[in-house]
Amino acid sequence: MATPATQQTAMHVLRRLRQAGYCAYFAGGSVRDRLMKCRTHDYDIATDATPKQVKQLFGHVLLVGAQFGVAVVVHKKETVEVATFRTDATYTDGRRPDAVTFATPREDALRRDFTINGMFYDPVSREVIDYVGGQRDIERGLIRTIGSPDARFAEDYLRMMRAVRFAVRFGFTLEPATRRAIKTYAARVVGVSGERICDELTKMLALPSAAEALVMLTDTGLAAHVLPARFAVGWDGAVARVAALAKHKDTTLMLMGLLGDMPAASANKRLRHWGASNALRDGVAVAHSHWNAWRTLADAPLCTFKRMMASEHFGRLRTLWRLLEARETGATRQSRRIARRAGGIDPRQVAPDPFITGGDLLAMGLTEGPALGTILNALYDAQLNEELSSRRAALAMARKLI
Ligand code: ATP
Ligand code: MG
Repeated sequence: MATPATQQTAMHVLRRLRQAGYCAYFAGGSVRDRLMKCRTHDYDIATDATPKQVKQLFGHVLLVGAQFGVAVVVHKKETVEVATFRTDATYTDGRRPDAVTFATPREDALRRDFTINGMFYDPVSREVIDYVGGQRDIERGLIRTIGSPDARFAEDYLRMMRAVRFAVRFGFTLEPATRRAIKTYAARVVGVSGERICDELTKMLALPSAAEALVMLTDTGLAAHVLPARFAVGWDGAVARVAALAKHKDTTLMLMGLLGDMPAASANKRLRHWGASNALRDGVAVAHSHWNAWRTLADAPLCTFKRMMASEHFGRLRTLWRLLEARETGATRQSRRIARRAGGIDPRQVAPDPFITGGDLLAMGLTEGPALGTILNALYDAQLNEELSSRRAALAMARKLI
């Protein structure tokens, strides 16, 4: 598996481009992060070499985005995006430009979303190349579109969510005209694909200040369109839960806390629209089914308790329950009882292989059908309850049940 490039690898790629006579800079996020003394997680390079020319220089190059002017150089199992300076032509689907035209560095800066994201850095001369006033906006702590916010958001309404994410991530404010435009066009975010929205929202929820992102989505009018059903009912409680859960740095847990108390069909519809993974959808569904389980679980039958423990989301559920209980009762008595009970159960006994299978029951003369499932369940419950200690005992019970 390839990972995003370290600075060292990105430098290697940049030097190689320059040795071949091309112009090459670091671009976008890594320049911003350097100026802000933040850790950067990937280095993008901008160059006047075309993807084909990049391909000729390096041993391993992926050309998946070549029609958009992007080549991915793979070096030492690290990937560096090398993008040709370009302008984006019109956006008919509000997502990808219909065509790109290779252009000057200045034009390439002007197509980018926000001033703080629109700079280049020359790591050899250690110069920042700033056509858009990005340095000034970093000093002032402002998220400002490059050029007219109305026009820039109309090209791609996802940028409204990106503005909120960068503002919250860096503790910046939205420059007034940028903010006004977002308020004006917030409803247009519904035209953005669910996958892109989900991606942005997930990145927001991964921030330590995730709850502030939800508050800013509220203030800008975006929340009502990004999460309409959630926003209509129980929004403030959901934001409070996200605030309390953010320190766990677990997106699935965050979405369980954000959506778990909504009607299951409504939450699931939204997650499907986003193209969310099965694991994530499953987490939210489990949170929904067991939202109130903290009230009774410590005293539930052992088989019920073990079935709950066997869920891959059990740890998350416990975190969520602790929070829900503390909010309702001001204490965590039940949650501590649940923890004690879980701690006392032998991990090998949580989900043991069943003594009896469907095949056994069929061999005993039972036919396929709902009765078979019911009997299997009863046998497994008895096993989990530690009422059966062997396959022999289970077979005897099966005979009695049949
Ligand atoms: P992050 O640290 O979140 O990855 P980033 O700035 O690297 O931040 P990316 O989404 O990786 O953000 O995009 C890289 C660069 O591409 C941005 O800095 C910006 O210049 C440009 N960019 C990305 N998405 C858009 C967009 N929707 N519209 C215009 N420019 C964009
Ligand atoms: Mg990036």
